[in-house]
Amino acid sequence: MSERIVVGAALIEDGRLLAARRSAPVELAGRWELPGGKVEPGETADAALARELREELGVDAEVGGRVPGEWPLRAPYVLHVWTARLRPGSAAPEPLQDHDALRWLGPGEIWDVPWLDQDVPAVRQALAHLGVA
Ligand code: C5P
Repeated sequence: MSERIVVGAALIEDGRLLAARRSAPVELAGRWELPGGKVEPGETADAALARELREELGVDAEVGGRVPGEWPLRAPYVLHVWTARLRPGSAAPEPLQDHDALRWLGPGEIWDVPWLDQDVPAVRQALAHLGVA
C-alpha cells in the first residue's frame, strides 16, 4: 500500500507551541500531539491541515511552511509537520474533537507533557526549524 500522509501543526502564538491531549483511541488517550490528521485523497497537505484545525479546534489557521523531515506512524501513515498561525480574528482553540485538553507550551515547558512517541522527534525538529527552543 502506498504511503498516506498525516499532517500535524506546529501552531505557534507568542513564542508558545500548542499541544493537544488525545481523548481517543484508547491506546493514544492521555498522550499529547501536534493537532492534525489524515490528508484525504485529492486534498493538498496545507488544505488538509487547515481543515483539521478548523474541525478539531474551531480555529481559522494560516498554514505556513513544511518542517523538513517525516516521521513514521503505524503503516501506511507518515507524519509531516507544517508551521501554522491563527489568523487575526480567529477563535481561540478549543478541544472540540479527538482531544480533551490543550496547552500553549512556552520554551521551558515543551517537555512537560507526555507526547506521543512519534511526535517527540517531530516537535524537536519543528522547534529547531522555528528557532523557538
Ligand atoms: O487525528 P487522526 O485520527 O486523523 O490521526 C491519524 C493518525 O495519525 C492517528 O492514529 C494518530 O496516531 C496519528 N497522529 C500522530 N501524531 C499527530 C497526529 C496524528 O501520531 N501529531
